[in-house]
Amino acid sequence: MTSRIYYTDPYCRRFEASVTKTFVHDGRPAALLDRTAFYPTSGGQPFDTGRLFEAGDAGRPGEAGRVDGERRGPSGSAIDVLDTIDVDDDVVHVLSAAVIAGASVHGEIDWTRRFDHMQQHTGQHILSAAFDRLFENRTVSFHMGSDVSSIDLQREASWEHIARAEGEANRIISENREVAIRFVTSEHAAVLPLRKEPSREGTLRLIEVKDFDLSACGGTHVSRTGEIGSLVVTAAEKFKGGARVTFACGARAVRAYQSLRDAVSGSVRLLSVLPRELPSAIERMQAEAKELRRTLRRFQEALAAHEAARLIAASDVGSGAAVVIVGALDAWDANGLKAIATHIVAQANATVALFSTASPYPVVIARSPGMQLDATAVLGELVASFGGRGGGKADLAQGGGLVGNLSDIMRAARQLLERGPLPLS
Ligand SMILES: [Zn+2]
Repeated sequence: MTSRIYYTDPYCRRFEASVTKTFVHDGRPAALLDRTAFYPTSGGQPFDTGRLFEAGDAGRPGEAGRVDGERRGPSGSAIDVLDTIDVDDDVVHVLSAAVIAGASVHGEIDWTRRFDHMQQHTGQHILSAAFDRLFENRTVSFHMGSDVSSIDLQREASWEHIARAEGEANRIISENREVAIRFVTSEHAAVLPLRKEPSREGTLRLIEVKDFDLSACGGTHVSRTGEIGSLVVTAAEKFKGGARVTFACGARAVRAYQSLRDAVSGSVRLLSVLPRELPSAIERMQAEAKELRRTLRRFQEALAAHEAARLIAASDVGSGAAVVIVGALDAWDANGLKAIATHIVAQANATVALFSTASPYPVVIARSPGMQLDATAVLGELVASFGGRGGGKADLAQGGGLVGNLSDIMRAARQLLERGPLPLS
């Protein structure tokens, strides 16, 4: 059973211990110590990382490295603690190199990482308590990520409620209240006003934010709320019938603000509006874009009819006679080609192959109702010769991705159309 220093002294970052057992965990060397300040992943809080030095090695890795250089690695440097895992009553330290059972070691935890976790975790207690006290909205789970953390609330939360809970949490933080650790029996805990029913029996570890929150927790917390700095809610969404509220404390809150500021200042510069005018400016632009798309469609439709008439006139056909029209058009996309082809086959007795002049070439093959031609077969032969793909029906087929000399492709298309069965009389 590992004695957990962080239970009573979460500020301990350096400690001496003995290696009680060594083994391999998931292919990496691992060790148990008689006591540790390393926090293993549990209760939503991620593990600590850091380093171990064997006795006599602390601060003087070079000297001991001469003796045990090979086992400890080429430079005789510290052994990294890569992961810390809670296994039953023990804390497993997963290491970058093996240590010897029975050895004395000096441990150092990565304090920047740990203190950040302490800030987020204490912030979570206070935010959860604020939702509980103000709105009787209970926290059902907590997750601490590498950028932001989140709590899942039992019920949905409006933005007005979220802002009020956030404000209340920051009031508790700025009052710099004491955060105490207490150990009580589960019988004693039963009569205390705990925010959440404890799930375990025996001795319970309680975290008390003075006159604000009391809850059973095995994690690491700051000793005064002021150390949290500040707490910001960065996002909220509906989740499993309740709400997921994402937040950040301390340096993370500042980073969250900085990235938001960068995004907003870039946007207001582009739109020449004030930050609070952004939503209405975007709404206005969306409405304008929609109107423009509608206008563009109208113009394209009118122009397609005009282009169709021009191509029919250019084909110099007597009224009623069948005609083959093969054309290459600038500045028309596949939809535009389709619109023009549809107009042609409606107005003349025709078979049509239209291309855009931009390679790889889109193509539309179409025929009038009175013509016998399988447009998909013509497209299939073009694709077989010039690549690309497409499909459609017997009277209209669309393709794209054709490559090669456009004149050659158009000549081949004309041959295929002219070879086709004669029009029905
Ligand atoms: Zn906690």
